Amino acid sequence: MLSEEGLQMRLITSVEDVGKLTTRWKEAGLRISLVPTMGFFHAGHLALMKYAKQHSDRVVVSLFVNPSQFGPNEDFKEYPRDLERDRSLAEKENVDCLFCPEAADMYPEGFQTWVDVNGLAKHLCGASRPGHFRGVATIVTKLFNIVRPDLAVFGQKDFQQLQIIRRIVRDLNFGIEIKGYPIVREADGLAMSSRNKYLNSEERKNALCLFEALKMAEKMVSEGCCSTPRLAHAIERIILARPGTKIDYIFLGDPETLTERETIQDDTLLALAVYVGNTRLIDNTILRPPKDAKGVHHKGKF
Ligand code: AMP
Repeated sequence: MLSEEGLQMRLITSVEDVGKLTTRWKEAGLRISLVPTMGFFHAGHLALMKYAKQHSDRVVVSLFVNPSQFGPNEDFKEYPRDLERDRSLAEKENVDCLFCPEAADMYPEGFQTWVDVNGLAKHLCGASRPGHFRGVATIVTKLFNIVRPDLAVFGQKDFQQLQIIRRIVRDLNFGIEIKGYPIVREADGLAMSSRNKYLNSEERKNALCLFEALKMAEKMVSEGCCSTPRLAHAIERIILARPGTKIDYIFLGDPETLTERETIQDDTLLALAVYVGNTRLIDNTILRPPKDAKGVHHKGKF
């Protein structure tokens, strides 16, 4: 597929080269978007690229399995990789540049500066994956500085990550527009994830419990349940009814501050992290309480 300049999608590994390219685009007055990824593309990644293409003149997709966001006992080595496949998928989405840096260039010898978001990054995934968001925040900050996009697109599937990025952009004055794109799901409801590849057929079936739990919670809230302990209890029962599942967390709380709530009066984030076998899956939804007695709809922000 040819881009507007009549050039094929560029595959760039050099930090310097991608900076030169985006500088040229900026000088030409073009609006640039960035979609950070760890590759092994699925329809969720492709939807983010499509959105970026529709909302900017040039799209840079970064593909980097970032070692610093994996814990010592996590799956950095096994994380699925297939550059040739990713390259052709990105090209079909008319991505202008696929940026695949080397770890040695992103973390050269002597590297010692980290971006640490204190409040938002400490709970949920931050509690069970110490250092994870420090790695994410640092790599995204570096990508922002290297590419200098006008817009960056992230998935709502990683809701906590999205809120952390929004915080960084505000706190560090990046002046980049952040778009949170809705969760893309398989036909049966399982949230797409590169890690779904780890699931065997039995686990794949059992993995549906996350989506089922979200749907049941939405139904309970629509029927008037506003007690988060009651919801959490019902969710736990649905998940643990499946063999081989272990709950990391069930979070019900404020979508902005990520603090827990006892009752649901307003839009509330329900976020789940569940092990299915050895695979840790996450999913989430926003629970919206029904109209109040005066018939006023609580406004959805997410
Ligand atoms: P990853 O390659 O898993 O780091 O994901 C790259 C980007 O794609 C992140 O912003 C993710 O939130 C987003 N993403 C991953 N899975 C999905 C999905 N199922 N729906 C929407 N966005 C997703």
